[in-house]
Amino acid sequence: MSIVKKLKKALKGLNYDLFKTENISPPAPATIDHKIRQATEEYLARAAAEVKIKSQTKLPTVLELYQLFDRFNQVYFEGKLPRVTIEYSNRMTSAGSYTPRYKIIKIGRKYHHIFPEDIGDTLKHEMIHIVHFKHNKAFKDFAKKIGASIKAKPHPSLRRAPRFIYICPNCKMEYPRQKRLVMASCGKCSKGKRFDKRYKLKLIKSKSTEKT
Ligand SMILES: [Zn+2]
Ligand SMILES: [Zn+2]
Repeated sequence: MSIVKKLKKALKGLNYDLFKTENISPPAPATIDHKIRQATEEYLARAAAEVKIKSQTKLPTVLELYQLFDRFNQVYFEGKLPRVTIEYSNRMTSAGSYTPRYKIIKIGRKYHHIFPEDIGDTLKHEMIHIVHFKHNKAFKDFAKKIGASIKAKPHPSLRRAPRFIYICPNCKMEYPRQKRLVMASCGKCSKGKRFDKRYKLKLIKSKSTEKT
């Protein structure tokens, strides 16, 4: 087909569309009735979008996490890892944790609602902790070998409010902390990075209701 013919055909389509009845009908009058209908439609569209987001971030069940654990154990750990307890934590803001004392892996729901694609990576990371408790060289080497991340991603809604706030009596610098400080002095005022009781940090806020 020649270009002219193509253009003519396109123009024909355009004209046809332009004169379709609904395109030349006047906009609906702004009556209360119309406004209510419009608001309802917008509300329903928003609700539908929210449901979509929720279903998209549907996380694996605990059973599925155990199955994933077994698979990773076979593939990356020669099946040598002991079975540990796996559960979700609703309040934890970090991606995951492993507590050797109770042999329990916790997966943070909040984090994975934001980064659902990270869940396998988090599980892998926590599984390495069964063998290497700290983020030492052995941990990092192994993480690199099996393709697990060392650090979780930051997100504003995952930032925890500090449980304690300390202040330097000298320069008034504030030190927000998650943990209680014992024998700590201001890093700016103390000479040679040593504890100096003249600049001992003073607790000015304590939110001890929160558990760790
Ligand atoms: Zn870790
Ligand atoms: Zn100071």
